[in-house]
Amino acid sequence: LVSLRDVNKHFGDLHVLKDINLSIGKGEVVVVIGPSGSGKSTLCRAINRLEPIDSGTIMLDGQPLPGEGKALAKLRADVGMVFQSFNLFAHKTILQNVTLGPMKVRGQSRSEAEENARALLERVGVAAQADKYPAQLSGGQQQRVAIARALAMDPKVMLFDEPTSALDPEMINEVLDVMIGLARQSMTMIVVTHEMGFARKAANRVVFMADGQIVEEAEPERFFTDPQTKRAQDFLSKIL
Ligand code: ATP
Ligand code: MG
Repeated sequence: LVSLRDVNKHFGDLHVLKDINLSIGKGEVVVVIGPSGSGKSTLCRAINRLEPIDSGTIMLDGQPLPGEGKALAKLRADVGMVFQSFNLFAHKTILQNVTLGPMKVRGQSRSEAEENARALLERVGVAAQADKYPAQLSGGQQQRVAIARALAMDPKVMLFDEPTSALDPEMINEVLDVMIGLARQSMTMIVVTHEMGFARKAANRVVFMADGQIVEEAEPERFFTDPQTKRAQDFLSKIL
């Protein structure tokens, strides 16, 4: 569903993505881990075209990523993204946050978008908050709204960039549980996270990045118990 071929990206002299090759099948859940600065966020942003790449190709559903215009807007709608910070529209209610995109980009009527939004808010456990504003919600609730908002666009793939790292510990699991639910329903997901519990429960594959390269790829159990490269061993010894 998503494939990257020989993708390279520089920031000035800094080579942040080095010949990245990665394919993600429909329904697959890939966890990306690696040290700070290894290029994980840049990889996510490249897949969404928030960050232009210098060379290589990124394909979504068999199509190369468009660079601009209507096709790009369509692509962005097909790729749901949830970031570390919640990024909800502060001056819109929770319901409005979730209905805006589907009405604007997908051309849904208000009633259709609201019906769908209420179902999604129910699914992530924040239906009772629909008429509140983001600041009235906890971080965990806001992040679940952000997930509902991304899902409202009916994306082909969901990208998560450290979705729980800004949360208080007691809120992490409520967000991870929603993500595990999505994974079980065969959503295609690329998840940057250091939450090993999530990787073990939900991931088909762990991709370990260091210095802009994919250093190792394996099933979670194998990766955590028997990493093959020294860099992965060193990294795991620091975080486990
Ligand atoms: P973290 O775990 O800290 O989030 P990361 O793996 O997500 O790290 P990236 O954010 O992708 O890493 O950054 C990779 C490298 O590119 C880092 O050295 C970073 O400083 C650099 N970088 C990222 N964005 C920019 C930018 N807009 N301009 C210049 N350098 C950047
Ligand atoms: Mg990052």
